Order: sequence, then structure tokens, then C-alpha cells
Amino acid sequence: MENLKCTTNNCEFHFKNHCTASVLEIGEKGVCKSKRKRAGGAYAQAIAEFELADELTPLLDRETEVQCNCKTCAHNKDETCSASELLVGDGVLSTKCFTKRNK
Ligand code: SF4
Ligand code: SF4
Repeated sequence: MENLKCTTNNCEFHFKNHCTASVLEIGEKGVCKSKRKRAGGAYAQAIAEFELADELTPLLDRETEVQCNCKTCAHNKDETCSASELLVGDGVLSTKCFTKRNK
């Protein structure tokens, strides 16, 4: 998955709307199971992003394997996401996949 965008405000893998996890696990309700909260929370994330030079941002683009247990999503093919692009972000209760499309 090359076109993976994440807008969460608190995850160790998150830098400037990029997800740097090599394998992303999405649960049966579309929740991101790979999320790891930073010790310093959203503030720590803002500092980390501020310190990351803009010219390094393209290096954050990497191939991410997306494993998904959400069987009610039309993009789920044998527990792998077949969507051409993916948006993950903070919901009311959890960080989840917003590309999910019910069958
Ligand atoms: S997609 Fe999940 S693991 Fe990746 S940055 Fe977002 S919350 Fe973190
Ligand atoms: S689009 Fe569907 S199959 Fe892909 S990660 Fe989201 S919920 Fe899973």
C-alpha cells in the first residue's frame, strides 16, 4: 500500500500524515491495531514533526503491508486490503480506517 495517509495526532509511527509502520494491522471493526501512543502524547508528536526536516519527508513514503480482519469491508480480500489508497484517522473512540466500505 503506497497511498496510505494517517492523520492521527498521537502515534509512534506517525510523521506528517505518513505511517512508517512496515506492517499495518486493522482490526475487525476497522480500528488500527498497530497504533502505539507516544509517551508524551500529541505534544511529543508535534515536536517530533517540527524537528523533522521537510526534505526528509519523501523518505517516509514506503510500501506498507496492510493486514485487515474487517470482514464487512468490500476492500477486504483474504484479510488483505485491496483498496488503492487508505485514510486512517482519529475517530471519537479510536483511530480507524475511513476508507472502509460496507459490503
Ligand atoms: S496508521 Fe496506525 S500505526 Fe500508522 S501512524 Fe496511523 S495510527 Fe499509527
Ligand atoms: S479499506 Fe477495508 S479492507 Fe482496507 S484496511 Fe480499511 S477496513 Fe480494511
